[in-house]
Amino acid sequence: MSDNNPLGSKQRPLRVAVVGSGPSGFYAAESLLKAGIEVSVDIFDRLPTPFGLARGGVAPDHQKIKAVTMVYSKVAANPALRFFGNVKLGKDIQADDLRKHYDAVIYAVGSESDNKLGIPGEDIDGSYCATAFVGWYNCHPDYRNHKFDLSTEAVAIVGVGNVAIDCARILAQDPEILAKTDIAGYAVDALRKSNVKTVYLLGRRGVAQAAFSVGEIKEMGELPSADLVIEPKEVELDEISQKTLTDPTKKKNVDYLTEKSKAGVGSKPRKVRLRFLTSPVEIIGEGGKVKAVKIEKNALKIDDKGTPRPKGTGEFETLPVGMVLRSVGYRGIPIPGVSFDEKKGRIPNNEGRVLDAMGQTLPGEYVVGWAKRGPSGLIGTNRADSVATVKELLKDIEGKSAPADPVKEPEAITKLLSEKKIRSVSFEEWKVLDRLELEQGKAKGKIREKFSDIKEMLSALSGASATV
Ligand code: NAP
Repeated sequence: MSDNNPLGSKQRPLRVAVVGSGPSGFYAAESLLKAGIEVSVDIFDRLPTPFGLARGGVAPDHQKIKAVTMVYSKVAANPALRFFGNVKLGKDIQADDLRKHYDAVIYAVGSESDNKLGIPGEDIDGSYCATAFVGWYNCHPDYRNHKFDLSTEAVAIVGVGNVAIDCARILAQDPEILAKTDIAGYAVDALRKSNVKTVYLLGRRGVAQAAFSVGEIKEMGELPSADLVIEPKEVELDEISQKTLTDPTKKKNVDYLTEKSKAGVGSKPRKVRLRFLTSPVEIIGEGGKVKAVKIEKNALKIDDKGTPRPKGTGEFETLPVGMVLRSVGYRGIPIPGVSFDEKKGRIPNNEGRVLDAMGQTLPGEYVVGWAKRGPSGLIGTNRADSVATVKELLKDIEGKSAPADPVKEPEAITKLLSEKKIRSVSFEEWKVLDRLELEQGKAKGKIREKFSDIKEMLSALSGASATV
């Protein structure tokens, strides 16, 4: 007689680990908890704080977008969900530990690194990735000690996606507006002293191919502290753009910027200058610091898939800038013991089922969000993406039975963490940090004063428990 019971039944609940507590991780957890089966979900995050890019990526002056974390907190209130913050996969625990302790593992690890330009001078001091700048102003523990020298009068940002727009807006925004948000206090101090007067946004293709959203570029056009400047010649569409401009959202960008190009340079103290059909070819330094960026004029060519691509024309220009931020897309980083596609910078998968190097499905392993499809889409895009992966997971367990297994009991993983002396942070503890951040913010006249140092977070937690 077998003591097997259906997976997902009262007798044998499904046990799932989700690695990463950003939007895609929480949407996957939510979808599992709503699936109508007996399931318990443990979410792991390498940081003591949850919410991934909703906390560490979304710009501080975009609080409405951040409000989505309230939805995730509601998901976390379900007793079948536990949060283990401050636990890094591949360091504190291994992929095999998760395979042993859970019926399924869902990787929601995002894209933590960035693409490089591959041009001379890219590593000179003053040339940075947008990831570092975003992490810096958002109090991410990895970037809190990064120094950005804002004594320069001009900055070039390479790329014209929404991340580039966020970086440009933070540099051009009135620091007193930012000071009231949850931006890092040290970032406001630096921005108050900033000398930056011009921010160039460099798009390698034309205005009709720009990746930013119309809402974001319009917001830039209405900043109290800066003029959005675009020369009329930048909005003239070449034959290729005229033929391929079919996407209504891109048309809105073109319409808005065509209007904007008639406004001239304006009279606000800072300028955000949009330049299209231009690629950096070299970052020029002097005394070990960025002094200028050499750019090449591009023309569009259609590739064999019918997509307009940039091609250098041999016409060059040098922009004197003291800082260059590259914002040309994110990529994932490999996790020890987890399948990874180096070329694409993400976890190889088929409809969310993780594949090994030979393209074979790895049973019980799934992926969601940017780690699954690459760094694209808005926060909400991740809901449908995570729901789709969970649907496949549920198909895979349908009709399957399993014996009771003490290693898969919820206590087994907590025991493992304590044996390894890992100081994990629960969701209840995060709520303590959350309260402290809000209180610290209130005292300073801002929405929130975030912790940016993991040691400080842990010692605040021991202080808080000592006073209970
Ligand atoms: P993105 O939207 O993919 O934009 C990347 C930009 O980099 C594009 O302009 C791209 O140009 C350019 N680029 C790529 N390689 C380049 C190279 N070698 N040289 C010059 N330019 C290069 O990526 P993202 O800005 O990192 O944003 C990631 C995702 O997060 C997007 O879906 C974005 O909408 C989302 N996001 C949303 C918000 C918001 O809603 N407020 C804020 C931040 C991020 P090509 O088009 O020519 O490839």
